[in-house]
Amino acid sequence: MNLVLMRTTPEPDRLVAIAARRCYSNRSAEDIDEKLSDAEVERLLDFLRQRNHLSPFEHADFSFSVDGISRALSHQLVRHRIASYSQESQRYVNYMKVETLPFITPPKIANDDKALQIYNQALEHTLKAYREMVEAGVAPEDARYVFPNAIETKFVFTMNARSLFNFFEQRCCLKAQWEIRALAMAMLAEVRKVAPNIFKNAGAPCRYLQNPYCRENDPKCPMYKTMRENQNEPDKNRGTEENNL
Ligand SMILES: Cc1cc2nc3c(=O)[nH]c(=O)nc-3n(C[C@H](O)[C@H](O)[C@H](O)COP(=O)(O)OP(=O)(O)OC[C@H]3O[C@@H](n4cnc5c(N)ncnc54)[C@H](O)[C@@H]3O)c2cc1C
Repeated sequence: MNLVLMRTTPEPDRLVAIAARRCYSNRSAEDIDEKLSDAEVERLLDFLRQRNHLSPFEHADFSFSVDGISRALSHQLVRHRIASYSQESQRYVNYMKVETLPFITPPKIANDDKALQIYNQALEHTLKAYREMVEAGVAPEDARYVFPNAIETKFVFTMNARSLFNFFEQRCCLKAQWEIRALAMAMLAEVRKVAPNIFKNAGAPCRYLQNPYCRENDPKCPMYKTMRENQNEPDKNRGTEENNL
């Protein structure tokens, strides 16, 4: 998987804080911007998150490109409707000249010799069937119907910070499948570099610095016990490796 944070709204932390201050002040936006200190930006963003006043976070956009992901993942990704997507088309890109089908192998299959052999044979067979159909006159857009979830795809997509909170809550959770979880963790690491205050308390809610909870309410999850302990001691989570990504 290759993830790049391509563009963001300039100064996203600051813009969200200005938008929030707009609600409570009659001063001009320029004046608010000029007089807002970095400490106030941080305090305002914390306040908004604690009060669930989330609409100001919609002003900050983050555009990613990703390749080396499966269509299984991409199907899960596009279920997140508050986003914009541009995906490599299997109608316009065809697979007649590639040596092997570009595909993703789940680690558990990659580490199992027998399963890996079956997996690779199935993929080879798929590419052969696709080529034979196209050679027999079937349009690539119809021949592609034989392709599996494993096939590699590429995206450019954009989400705002509020939608990303929701995405990280769901997809950084251990209940999410390994591939979309890896994507979500990589995205969180990238956005924290450019918007550290917005995303300070983002991720799986069991790891929230304030008010951790389990959205799946699953006592069998390995994180559940720690989350329950941290509900009474919010500072305990602070400084753990995963929170500091
Ligand atoms: C662990 C896990 C397992 C899953 N398993 C399944 C499964 O088995 N089958 C399946 O179909 N899906 C499954 N999903 C997908 C899930 O149901 C959601 O479709 C997906 O995660 C997108 O979430 P969302 O709707 O909150 O996000 P978005 O579409 O980005 O929406 C964000 C928020 O906007 C609001 N919103 C958006 N659209 C509407 C609307 N039309 N009406 C009202 N409010 C709206 C909601 O508050 C929503 O939370 C799974 C997700 C996870 C994380």
